[in-house]
Amino acid sequence: ARKFCVGGNWKCNGTIEEAKKIIGLLNSAEVPSEEDVEVVIAPTYVHLSLVKSLLRPDFSVAAQNAWVKKGGAYTGEISAEILVNLGIPWVILGHSERRGLLGESNEFVADKVAYCLSQGLKVMACIGETLEQREAGETMSIVAEQTKAIAAKIGSWDNVVLAYEPVWAIGTGKVATPAQAQEVHNELRKWLASNVSSDVASTTRIIYGGSVNAGNSKELAAEPDVDGFLVGGASLKPEFVDIIKSAL
Ligand code: 13P
Repeated sequence: ARKFCVGGNWKCNGTIEEAKKIIGLLNSAEVPSEEDVEVVIAPTYVHLSLVKSLLRPDFSVAAQNAWVKKGGAYTGEISAEILVNLGIPWVILGHSERRGLLGESNEFVADKVAYCLSQGLKVMACIGETLEQREAGETMSIVAEQTKAIAAKIGSWDNVVLAYEPVWAIGTGKVATPAQAQEVHNELRKWLASNVSSDVASTTRIIYGGSVNAGNSKELAAEPDVDGFLVGGASLKPEFVDIIKSAL
């Protein structure tokens, strides 16, 4: 069975005080055991050490990005080696805000995924279509292309979680319906079965992101191919605890 996985992507938010407050709330929350639900918190780079030092040990920490190769003369970037040295086990890569605002291509994201995996990081690889692409009927071809670029560059999917985040649902309050999420997740699983292996298709977790909140998470989590969530805005609020619990 695929372990339910819930990521909290804080994006470019949070003062030290706010971070401490959310962590206090998470640390005192009663949640399912780590055998059943994996929780991963992704603060900004500069708050990684603080969050890691304060957060309960059964929750993990992720960076929101990493450099595409070994560190060196890359001003402003953070390498996978630096994250590993800091004791950070996870990294989010290819978020639509980076693809869209910073021009990260499928190839570039795939190179990042491959490099971070090679350094021992676990990766949440984000994919998803824009509203225009959905309306043009291109959803599946877009997410397949994004996944294909990654599949071409990695040898193992063991440490990869795919995060399906339709761009039109991110930060808009317009959540995908459970049926819409299930449809894409199921198609992605079929894609993995045909293009990678049936084993990878059945074991790889595919999580959903885009306007997930405590009011819609339970219904989404009930879909057979929705293996968790990548939560933005609501991960900074007390309702994140309810989202973590929505698996059970
Ligand atoms: P929201 O939950 O704020 O829509 O953001 C989703 C997201 O982008 C998580 O990575």
